[in-house]
Amino acid sequence: MTERTLIIIKPDAVQRHLIGRIVTRFENKGLKLIAGKFLQAGTEQAGELYAVHKGKDFYERLVRYISSAPILVTVWQADGAIAMARKLLGDTFGYDAKPGTIRGDFGCSQTCNLVHGSDSPESAEFEIGLFFKPEEMVDYEFADAEWLYNSKE
Ligand code: UDP
Ligand code: MG
Repeated sequence: MTERTLIIIKPDAVQRHLIGRIVTRFENKGLKLIAGKFLQAGTEQAGELYAVHKGKDFYERLVRYISSAPILVTVWQADGAIAMARKLLGDTFGYDAKPGTIRGDFGCSQTCNLVHGSDSPESAEFEIGLFFKPEEMVDYEFADAEWLYNSKE
């Protein structure tokens, strides 16, 4: 099923000059970029993004971190995009994440783990709505779609 997922290139990735290398992972895999915004989130918006973690011991630190510097907020579309993107991200903590994943290749921190990805269709819809209006997403066909998605007879 066609899905959309919110992928955020987090403050540490921007500061560490990793935007291009991270975006390339999603492009290489064949996910389609349909929206993007470079911004610094306010604490209110950051709090909403991580509302599911409110009350946990790392919540305040997480909100401070994500709103501390600019981020690149993107939306990617593909069949099964949510699970595919989570596999590309790797496990939450850099020191657990497998080599070959974004978090596994570029970091070893708990909080500063470079990238956010929605974890379900419900959270994707909610998270995308925090940053984008429907008309800000641009759907289109890739020129090589038949080859990329194995629909060539
Ligand atoms: N996080 C943290 N300490 C923890 C758990 C999570 O700092 O013990 C941070 C980390 O940046 C993570 C984010 O909170 O990406 C959201 O946590 P979640 O469990 O949703 O992980 P994710 O979905 O990002 O893998
Ligand atoms: Mg999460």
